[in-house]
Amino acid sequence: MSAVRSAWIDDDLAMFQDAARRFIAAEVVPHELRWAAQTHVDRSIWNALGAAGLLCPAMPEEYGGGGGHFAHDAIVSMEMARALAIGPSLNVHSAIVAHYILRYGSEAQKRRWLPRMASGELVAAIAMSEPAAGSDLKAITTRAVRQGDRYIVNGAKTFITNGHLADLVCIVAKTDPAAGARGVSILVAETAGLPGFRRGRILDKIGLKGQDTSELFFDDMALPVENLLGGEEGRGFFQLMQQLPQERMLIALGTLATMERAVEDTLAYTRQRQVFGQPLFDLQNTRFKLAECRTKATVARAFVDDCMAKVLRGELSGDVAAMAKLWCTQTNCEIVDECLQLHGGYGYMTEYPIGRMYVNARVGKIYGGSNEIMKELVARGM
Ligand SMILES: Cc1cc2nc3c(=O)[nH]c(=O)nc-3n(C[C@H](O)[C@H](O)[C@H](O)COP(=O)(O)OP(=O)(O)OC[C@H]3O[C@@H](n4cnc5c(N)ncnc54)[C@H](O)[C@@H]3O)c2cc1C
Repeated sequence: MSAVRSAWIDDDLAMFQDAARRFIAAEVVPHELRWAAQTHVDRSIWNALGAAGLLCPAMPEEYGGGGGHFAHDAIVSMEMARALAIGPSLNVHSAIVAHYILRYGSEAQKRRWLPRMASGELVAAIAMSEPAAGSDLKAITTRAVRQGDRYIVNGAKTFITNGHLADLVCIVAKTDPAAGARGVSILVAETAGLPGFRRGRILDKIGLKGQDTSELFFDDMALPVENLLGGEEGRGFFQLMQQLPQERMLIALGTLATMERAVEDTLAYTRQRQVFGQPLFDLQNTRFKLAECRTKATVARAFVDDCMAKVLRGELSGDVAAMAKLWCTQTNCEIVDECLQLHGGYGYMTEYPIGRMYVNARVGKIYGGSNEIMKELVARGM
């Protein structure tokens, strides 16, 4: 953890951070290796997280949330990442899906879904990516056709985080394929006993082993028209574009926490590891590598803190959020690689956290919009 408290963390947030850290250390971290082996978390952790107030902390109290704001989501995201607690994706559940419902949902939709998400009764996922369309979201083929008071949904989604356990899935689908971006809508599916909804494999990933990343299939799946997010067709692409900057900040925040943890762990390791009769840390190469890593992490924190101040003022632009995601995920991979090297053979052993940080870091450059797409967004802002 950075010794310096970021300016956006006030006393209340610091108390929330402390409580989150203690809960995660006691109730989440001890299960991570077992969850990695079974490739998904225990369903009960979601209820425990809800009871501890760590789900939907930014949602208004009237909808069962913590009454906070995006900084509360940011704190949870960083504390999970710092603890290497990757099983339940709270980012997707609380910081992404809940915000879609709060911002675009009707009053009835908010009352129907948010309190149950805050308690952990519903686990949420968002399903955009398809086997043949990830970066190019306009190319999705999942189709929702209105028939009377229902939408009939057909299609397939892949790489869906929390997908194996999700009770509530925001599905990005075409309601009018001829209308381009204006033909995309978000429909919300409650999956329990839903005919036509089918889960595929939990995908076998190189990292983030305990996180259930799944395939989902919809075969003539009928959803009531009340499940169209916001009640108006064709708003989906616009809704996605508005929310994505905030989602990219979450990735930047998590990777920042990881790079700081990597430097801390490596500092401790190299101080106790003896080579050629002296601590590994005393070699100039070690000191220089760690100095470079700490410098990069410090620069990353300064930029992320500046972005957070902008988020909280409602001023963060899409291109700057893209810079934060691009910079932090790239820098995280560089730092974690150097830190693993300084662990020698032990760095390659799964029992050392640095090995998990290494495999987990890589996806940061891919998901949430790949870093090539981030560069496009930055270039568009020039
Ligand atoms: C662990 C994990 C969890 C995920 N969770 C979710 C989730 O919860 N929900 C969800 O909907 N999706 C999720 N995804 C999907 C993720 O968002 C996509 O993988 C990502 O957007 C990239 O899409 P793609 O895999 O189809 O790659 P492609 O779009 O096929 O891209 C392949 C390569 O081409 C490059 N490329 C593509 N277009 C351009 C361009 N215009 N210019 C330059 N280069 C380009 C890409 O950068 C990439 O390097 C997850 C993915 C992973 C791995």
